[in-house]
Amino acid sequence: MIVAESKPFKEIYELVKDFSRVCVIGCGDCVTVCHTGGQKQVEELALKLRIAAKRDGRKLEVKEETVLRQCEQEYVEPIVNYINDYDAVVSIACGVGVQTLAEKYTPSRVLPGLNTTFMGAPVEPGLFLERCAGCGDCVLDRTGGFCPVSRCSKSLMNGPCGGSMGGKCEVAEDVPCVWNQIYVQLDKQQTMHYMDDISPPKNWSVSTGSKPRKLEIKHLQMEKE
Ligand code: SF4
Ligand code: SF4
Repeated sequence: MIVAESKPFKEIYELVKDFSRVCVIGCGDCVTVCHTGGQKQVEELALKLRIAAKRDGRKLEVKEETVLRQCEQEYVEPIVNYINDYDAVVSIACGVGVQTLAEKYTPSRVLPGLNTTFMGAPVEPGLFLERCAGCGDCVLDRTGGFCPVSRCSKSLMNGPCGGSMGGKCEVAEDVPCVWNQIYVQLDKQQTMHYMDDISPPKNWSVSTGSKPRKLEIKHLQMEKE
């Protein structure tokens, strides 16, 4: 899932300072799971905006909306009927949702209410940890299912650095060294030979930062034609 955290309220309030009618739009998927962009958070943010505006003697009308999935055009279709009646939209979906709205509903201003942070998993109530960096060339088959790209602070691909101590990463006490976890896992799975193999230089040209990436499913594209 995509994990996103709320922008500070002060920053969001500043973003809407020039507008008198705004619509706060949430998403019913990942950001609902991480309690930052679901219906409840839409209600809370809308209320805080109204209270702050009232305190400052500003006229601010705030509409509330939550769609099932803000990253898909079909799901944001229903808001077409009224969205351009508002000066701005505050999207509390991930950056994909924000952009879906922005591309579809020009000239409405679409403003981000969240900071999208990583792809991760809930590991205990209220705790989400990064698990994948979308590198485009997965190596989990050789690492016991632990990702060295997103879970090693240096994204090392051939074993730990010299800072790995007692199973902890040198960057912080609460960060496990993933190469220690990989070692333990490979030992359990009796596939320790992967530890001895030297991984060739990773193909970073398929990772983020190379060019905007895409996925084409040919048979679906043909159906569309
Ligand atoms: S190796 Fe790459 S694709 Fe696989 S989990 Fe790690 S970042 Fe994601
Ligand atoms: S201590 Fe482990 S997790 Fe931390 S940077 Fe070194 S190899 Fe990576």
